[in-house]
Amino acid sequence: MPNPLIARVALDLPLRRLFDYLAPQGETLSLADRGYRVRVPFGRQQKIGIVVDLITETDVPVDQLRCIDGVLRDEPPLPPDWFHLTGFCADYYHAPLGQVMLSTLPAGLRALAPPKARRRQKVNDGAVVQTPPPLTPEQHAAVATIAEHGAAYNAYLLHGVTGSGKTEVYLRLVEHALAAGRQALLLVPEINLTPQLEARVAARFPDVGLVSLHSELGNAARSRAWRSAIGGEARIVLGTRLAVFTPMPALGLVIVDEEHDASFKQQDGIRYSARDLAVFRARVCDVPIVLGSATPSLETWANAGANGGRERYRLLTLHNRAVPGAGLPTVRRIDTRVNKALDGLTDPLLQAVEERLSRGEQSLLFLNRRGYAPVLACAACGWTSRCRRCAANLVLHLADRRLRCHHCGHEAGVPPACPTCGNQDLSAFGRGTQRLEAILGKRFPQARILRIDRDSAGSRKQWDSLVARIHGGDVDILVGTQMLAKGHDFPKLTLVGAIAPDAALFAADWRAPERLFAQLMQVAGRAGRHRFPGEVLIQTQFPDHPLYDALARHDYPAFAATQLVERRQAGFPPYAHQAMLRAEANAMADALAFLNSARACWLPESDRHITFYDPVPMRLSRRASLERAQLLIESPSRRALQHFLANRLNRLDEIRTPSHLRWHLEVDPLEF
Ligand code: ADP
Ligand code: ZN
Ligand code: ZN
Repeated sequence: MPNPLIARVALDLPLRRLFDYLAPQGETLSLADRGYRVRVPFGRQQKIGIVVDLITETDVPVDQLRCIDGVLRDEPPLPPDWFHLTGFCADYYHAPLGQVMLSTLPAGLRALAPPKARRRQKVNDGAVVQTPPPLTPEQHAAVATIAEHGAAYNAYLLHGVTGSGKTEVYLRLVEHALAAGRQALLLVPEINLTPQLEARVAARFPDVGLVSLHSELGNAARSRAWRSAIGGEARIVLGTRLAVFTPMPALGLVIVDEEHDASFKQQDGIRYSARDLAVFRARVCDVPIVLGSATPSLETWANAGANGGRERYRLLTLHNRAVPGAGLPTVRRIDTRVNKALDGLTDPLLQAVEERLSRGEQSLLFLNRRGYAPVLACAACGWTSRCRRCAANLVLHLADRRLRCHHCGHEAGVPPACPTCGNQDLSAFGRGTQRLEAILGKRFPQARILRIDRDSAGSRKQWDSLVARIHGGDVDILVGTQMLAKGHDFPKLTLVGAIAPDAALFAADWRAPERLFAQLMQVAGRAGRHRFPGEVLIQTQFPDHPLYDALARHDYPAFAATQLVERRQAGFPPYAHQAMLRAEANAMADALAFLNSARACWLPESDRHITFYDPVPMRLSRRASLERAQLLIESPSRRALQHFLANRLNRLDEIRTPSHLRWHLEVDPLEF
């Protein structure tokens, strides 16, 4: 008789290994048990694990092997391509496999006592059925090209100006996939900001199982959605970054909308890029993937063959807006050296708002800083509102009279007088959206002004009700952060004003111009999407800056080309590959000492393809009472960097560190 099979199980532990278990008492395991969840004893606890493999031989002495308590067969087993994807994620981001696997499951499926299953939800209840418009010639060409290349893996970059009808292209592709009996996965940066997309998908496919997976779903709802995806009832899965891991047995198409958006990158725990994993997944499943954006990330642009790069993605372009007669807005620069701003607003901008008011059209003023003022200060003694726990100022929020730290969440009441010298005349420096709202209220007392930022539209519910007001024509002037920039279609909006965009032109973060360009392009794209032509006004001290030149011409390729030349010269991504080792500790010296030890133990054995920079304090050097430092590791070769990390990362376990020190590694870091 052959040996009974032993299960190799992944557990949610920070250990780079798997755990072997025998079959449950009185049962045997078979190869078909791969992919099931199991309840296993671990120490004195029980844990949920996933059967990764079935083996006949193990190094663990048989008398030390314990039995599985139960195999959970209420869902289908996790499919092979899911193992591929989570395995790749663990390898590439150098994270423990068990943690990766378990963290991608809905909390309900990771818990020993799962939430009670209630009835299956049907998302598209009550949707208004919508018939598709005839495609524009450009949309048609894009859909046809993708269809021509068939159902196998091909990566496409759909580069379309704002309002060019990228969504319509996605919907047609989804239709094709559904007709072929396949499932479609649609990833969006923040579902909060894209209820319109959800509604459009539901309206287009009223009889098709559609689920959405995002952070505001409750545990039970998330488990339900996940189950209907793995069970195949859900034909369309719409979701934010974590949804990239949703097992879908008949996956036939992957779409990543707004692929440039930084929120596809997970910023804590396992720091993966859902966009990059989506490409990997499409390749493993051998299905087409479409990355869509008006302002692709420079990495993606290079992958589409820009500046002589290798063409990994096929480029499809939509140059024109889809709605007949809707043109791109005119962009005008207001030189603030000539037109002095009063309270942040120049005369030409005020006049333009005035004109919209008299014509009954909407204006949007974009200021990417929430709160009333970035700092409260005492002119008499120099006191400023600092966060006790971070190397940052507390931001004044006058709406509810609080001082708030935007980094750690710490808050306090607004002091009636200076805490140091008693001066009662504290002043608010600088301007955030709340202050802009107040200034506009004074200037245009008759106007209905609505502020949209994370404070006013933090939850999906708040957001929905604000959007409904905008659509109802209840609003004359919108004041908002980049929250307003994405994916929205406000028919009466004809003016966009960028209040103070200049800071990002010369920021220390070399990705700042890329983000600025994308934000301005997106926010400008809100104007003139329908019959009324749109106008964009940029208040700037640097009206001749090439970034604004390219923006005025709506010329993303020109902007990207200059950026890529600079990146190549400076040896920055996409022409270099990076990983960041970060440490947090009670004292900066400890954090730096750890990074220096890491560097010292790595240096002698590293090859010439790997560059180590000096450990340095992070830009936000203290957050939530922890001092933070980082060490950048770089290589012109992704493979060399990966090889190095795979072989040398375990060295760090040998470094003695104070118990309060934490470190992590981020591959392809976005923030510095
Ligand atoms: P994007 O995602 O590229 O910014 P959208 O998909 O939101 O653009 O489309 C912008 C507008 O154009 C929407 O109001 C949409 O209904 C409309 N639209 C899209 N395709 C067509 C078409 N083929 N004919 C007419 N209108 C269209
Ligand atoms: Zn003072
Ligand atoms: Zn803080």
